[in-house]
Amino acid sequence: MLHVVFHPKYLNYRFGPGHPFWPERAKEFLKRIEKENLKYKLHKPKKATDEDIMLAHVPEYLDRVKNLAKANGALSIDTPVNEEVVEAAYYSIGGTLLAARLALGGKRVMNLLGGLHHAGIADSSGFCIFNDHAIAIRKLQKSGKIETAFVFDVDVHAGQGTQEIFYSDPTVFTLSIHQDPKTLYPGTGFPEQEGKGKGQGFNRNIILTPGSGEEQFLKAVEQGLSLQTKFNPDLTVLILGADTYKEDPLANIKLELETYKKLGRKLKDIENLCILCAGGYSRKVPDIWLSFLYGFLK
Ligand SMILES: [Zn+2]
Repeated sequence: MLHVVFHPKYLNYRFGPGHPFWPERAKEFLKRIEKENLKYKLHKPKKATDEDIMLAHVPEYLDRVKNLAKANGALSIDTPVNEEVVEAAYYSIGGTLLAARLALGGKRVMNLLGGLHHAGIADSSGFCIFNDHAIAIRKLQKSGKIETAFVFDVDVHAGQGTQEIFYSDPTVFTLSIHQDPKTLYPGTGFPEQEGKGKGQGFNRNIILTPGSGEEQFLKAVEQGLSLQTKFNPDLTVLILGADTYKEDPLANIKLELETYKKLGRKLKDIENLCILCAGGYSRKVPDIWLSFLYGFLK
């Protein structure tokens, strides 16, 4: 059975009229799984605390976010903030933490708002406010629930915030498969960035050529899978971006709906896998997640 983490506050994760991020995709998805008669259990997360946030971000950044929220300001031109969206970001962290705990208990689980991988230690942009999965990993490490984690990021954008947070940490392997950052936001996430100090060799960026499709993507996923198997982590976090889809308005990787089913099939045997529903800006996002599940749950 599938376990789905969702909180009604996720629907407040919105950045104003005309912005490409549409939080209603989560509701649409829930309607779709009902219609398909897919058996699932819904879990409602708790709100994260300030203390949780400071496991991955500096206190000055948290203060800045709070002040900007009060003033209806912006972290960057593409990421305006107010108190509602920041509150939703706290729930997203709680959701990822809950999903990770369920994954560690052997459940097949997805959090409908997570993978906010552009949030770095002291700054953010790209529709991300706090790095939900970095916080959850650090919290589980601190409480002794896990020692190691592997971040398997297949969103079309490089997960540069997550890369930054764990760059010198050998206990968390960060893998990001994404469109060439010379052609796309965030403009970093290159193959030569492999970690530093003790973390050297524990960060990997695999680049996809703009316009490339399924073959190159699935080959990169195979490479990622062999890195994951070799690292043998206690927890794996999948950042399931739907912005690699051919109709996505923000990127140029030409995946078909069917490709996500193949992706799900490839990843279905990973143990303790926590799935985070990340980027995706076409109207097809709910169908993409569903297609993934048809491969993953088989
Ligand atoms: Zn993305």
